Amino acid sequence: MNERILLVEDEEALAIPLSDRLRREGYLVQIAADGETGYAQALAGPFDLILLDVMLPGKSGLNVCRDLRQRGISTPILMLTALTQTDDKVIGLRLGADDYLAKPFDQAELLARMEALLRRAVTPHISAETVHQIGALRIDLRRAEVFRDGQKVPLSAREFELLQYFVEHTGALLTREELLRDVWGYKASTSTRTVDVHVGWLRQKLEDDPKHPKLIVTSIGMGYRFTG
Ligand code: CA
Repeated sequence: MNERILLVEDEEALAIPLSDRLRREGYLVQIAADGETGYAQALAGPFDLILLDVMLPGKSGLNVCRDLRQRGISTPILMLTALTQTDDKVIGLRLGADDYLAKPFDQAELLARMEALLRRAVTPHISAETVHQIGALRIDLRRAEVFRDGQKVPLSAREFELLQYFVEHTGALLTREELLRDVWGYKASTSTRTVDVHVGWLRQKLEDDPKHPKLIVTSIGMGYRFTG
């Protein structure tokens, strides 16, 4: 308990109320108001989670994220992006961020995402491997890249997160509710159709024959299973 959070955010109007809320939730919060300071504090650590704004004075959030990963810092990073910066989300995940949230966001939504990341961080992964070769597919979890027959497969951030979850739970039957909760950070009351749509997209991109999927199979009435 009392997880340590580093909040790297230059907008005081956002950082102060947010840090107050996080402290009330029981988190220990440290604030950095620019990229260089955030980077230095993250290196000095340790933190359980980093909330990282993209647009920062000095070093951008994307560069902070990239450099931390290059230095071997594996602390979960949740990027905070402006709605218009859609490219930043994808770049951020490629550079090693674990999730992103578009501003303006609801504090409750942020807390749910943080809990999901913190839970994921303490769950021991079934395999510590980060590169998985499955037939013609090469899935690099650390770099957030997927190749099929040597060709890079463009995946949205959410598609990649879903695939990563499947890979980390290879062989397990995963219900739609579980996927929504752990990948989206949603409560089960949200429509599970979202899951089906994203599974459909992943199949289009990854399966040899998307109409007869062999990689992500459906258990009728139950959910999905990643065969690996
Ligand atoms: Ca900013």
